[in-house]
Amino acid sequence: MTLKRLILGPFETNCYILVSDSLKAVLIDPGSEPEKITQVIKKNLLKPYFIIHTHGHIDHIGADRNFSLPIYIHKEDLPLLKDPVLNLSKFFTEPFTVNSEIFTLEDRQEIKLDEIRLKVIHTPGHTPGSICLSILDDKEKILFSGDTLFFSGIGRTDLVGASYRKLIDSIKTKLFLLDDDTVVYPGHGVKTTIGREKRENPFLKNG
Ligand SMILES: [Zn+2]
Ligand SMILES: [Zn+2]
Repeated sequence: MTLKRLILGPFETNCYILVSDSLKAVLIDPGSEPEKITQVIKKNLLKPYFIIHTHGHIDHIGADRNFSLPIYIHKEDLPLLKDPVLNLSKFFTEPFTVNSEIFTLEDRQEIKLDEIRLKVIHTPGHTPGSICLSILDDKEKILFSGDTLFFSGIGRTDLVGASYRKLIDSIKTKLFLLDDDTVVYPGHGVKTTIGREKRENPFLKNG
């Protein structure tokens, strides 16, 4: 498996493309600038199979309509794909809804594409249906953390449906069970590790 990171749109959202050895691809959070994603797909001869969303905010879902691919999202964030107020597009861009075929995810569900195996970790807080995705692999310990956990930061909880208490609880009781050397790829900003955030993250290090 190889991993590509694209930084897209005014919110500098990280879109990750996971590529299998046979060039099948998963798009995680294609949030905007679809032409940049298409360029990477064409240049590397990738065959995208589906999209997974860490949550349903517009800066993570905004390019969905440009790809006729099935979409995976946690069941509790499904309403965000259908409502421009809940996905915040009404306030930041044109009102946006997703028309693609949608499959809902649950906690602990596994998603497979060739040798790529992802496990869903439901981490409510930033949105009710926020998820993180961990790679099930002996060699690489990787977590895609969406807007739940950042380098020295955590997701916003001042938006509709958010909960600060649930966010902190999700991180401490689910993400901090992962090995310290797990590499964390967040929805915005640079990568980090679980161990570093346990030690250094000002929102999490005490208690
Ligand atoms: Zn968000
Ligand atoms: Zn975001």
